[in-house]
Amino acid sequence: MNETPAAVQKFAVFGDPIAHSLSPRIHRRFAAQQGIALDYAAIRASVEDFAGALADFASAGGRGANITLPFKQAAFALAQQRGEFAQRAGAVNTLTWLGTGWRGDNTDGPGLIRDLTERHRLDLRARRGLLLGAGGAARAAAFALLDAGVGEIVIANRTPERADALADAIGEPQRAHTRYWDDLVNCGSFELIVDATSAGHDVAPVPPLPFSLLAPRALCYHLSYGLAATQFLAWAHAAHAGQALDGLGMLVEQAAESFAIWHGVRPDTDAVYAELRAELPLDATD
Ligand code: NAP
Repeated sequence: MNETPAAVQKFAVFGDPIAHSLSPRIHRRFAAQQGIALDYAAIRASVEDFAGALADFASAGGRGANITLPFKQAAFALAQQRGEFAQRAGAVNTLTWLGTGWRGDNTDGPGLIRDLTERHRLDLRARRGLLLGAGGAARAAAFALLDAGVGEIVIANRTPERADALADAIGEPQRAHTRYWDDLVNCGSFELIVDATSAGHDVAPVPPLPFSLLAPRALCYHLSYGLAATQFLAWAHAAHAGQALDGLGMLVEQAAESFAIWHGVRPDTDAVYAELRAELPLDATD
C-alpha cells in the first residue's frame, strides 16, 4: 500500500535586503532534524508592498513568516492577534496564519536571552546596561534584558525621539532611560553594552564610541553577525571587553522559538549553531 506523502507546509522570511538571510537554511536544518516536510523561502518586499506580499503568500498556502529588517513594526501593526511579549515590545518577527489573519509573536527577545544565559552561561542580573538603537530588535532586546534582571538600561539612538518612545513604552524611569548619543561620554561605564543598530550594514563607518563606556570585564554584544558586527567587535576588543559576542547565537535561538510556535516542538540548536559558527568564526579571544 502506498503511503500518502506528508503535506509540505510553506514558510518564508520577509525583509529587505534578504538575500543574505540564514533563516531558510536554519529552518530547513531544524525541519530535517524533526522529520518535518517544509518549504522555507526568502522573500524580498518593499515598504509599499509588504502587506500585499504577505497576503499573496497566505493565498498561496503560506502558514508562517519570519519578519526581519525593516518590517517588524509593520508586522506588529497588521497582526490580528499578538503574543504578550510582542505586544509589549511593539515589534513582531514571527507571523502565524490563523485562517483569516495573522498572529504576531516576537522571538527576538527570548532568543537573545537564551543565547546569553544558556549558550554563554552569563548572569545578567543587576548589570548596568547600555542599549544602542531603538528599532524593532532594540525594543525586543530592551524588554527581554529587563525581564532577565538587568538592573538599569540607558538607551541611546541616532534619532533620539525613538529612544524616548521606547523608554516611555517600558515605563520604568528608574530602570530604563535615555541619553543623547553625543552625551554618552558623560554616562559613566557599563557592564553590558548591546548594539542593536543596523549601522554595520551601512557603507560609511560610524564614529567609534569612547572606551570609557566599558566597565572592567564588560560584556559587549552586537545583534548582527558577520561583516555588520565587525567594527563593533573590533572596538570591544580594543577596549579590553571581558567578552565580545555577535548575534549568531541569537539568530539560531530566535529561529528555534519561531519553529516551536509553528510546529509545536523546539529543535536542538547546538548542531546548527556549531555549523554556522565554523563559517563565521568569532575572534579567538571570545
Ligand atoms: P530597524 O528597526 O531598522 O532599526 C535600525 C536601528 O539602527 C535604529 O535604531 C536606527 O536608528 C539605527 N541605525 C541605523 N543606521 C545607523 C547609523 N548609521 N548610525 C547609528 N544608528 C543607526 O532594524 P532592526 O530590526 O531593529 O535590526 C537592527 C539590527 O539587529 C540589524 O543589524 C539586524 O540584522 C539585527 N538583528 C539581529 C537579530 C538576530 O537574531 N541576531 C534579530 C533581529 C535583528 P534610527 O532610529 O535613527 O533610524
